[in-house]
Amino acid sequence: MSDIELTHVAVDSKPTCDEFTVVMIPCPKCNEIVKIKLAVSIGETIEYFPFPVIAMHTGNEGSHPVVHNLVAYIDKQLKCRHTEYLDGSRVFITPYILYNPNLLRVFCFK
Ligand SMILES: [Zn+2]
Repeated sequence: MSDIELTHVAVDSKPTCDEFTVVMIPCPKCNEIVKIKLAVSIGETIEYFPFPVIAMHTGNEGSHPVVHNLVAYIDKQLKCRHTEYLDGSRVFITPYILYNPNLLRVFCFK
């Protein structure tokens, strides 16, 4: 299990106090299971399935932690159907997003 656990990833734009379900995302790089939490109602806001969710976790390669970037495809039953590993820990964002972090919906709970 990752030392950083994503427990809440919301893709819909409206805040919700809905029920949540835990989605298990297998990392194809290190075989760890990354857990994220999705609002059960999220399916109502998604037009096409499976829909992608970006998840990062730290995997151990050798003796040091390395960031693993994943794109997980979530189906209508809110199960992870497929995971892609994005090579490297390089994430590029434009300055506009960097200075307007409210545009991002990033969740990380231990
Ligand atoms: Zn991993």
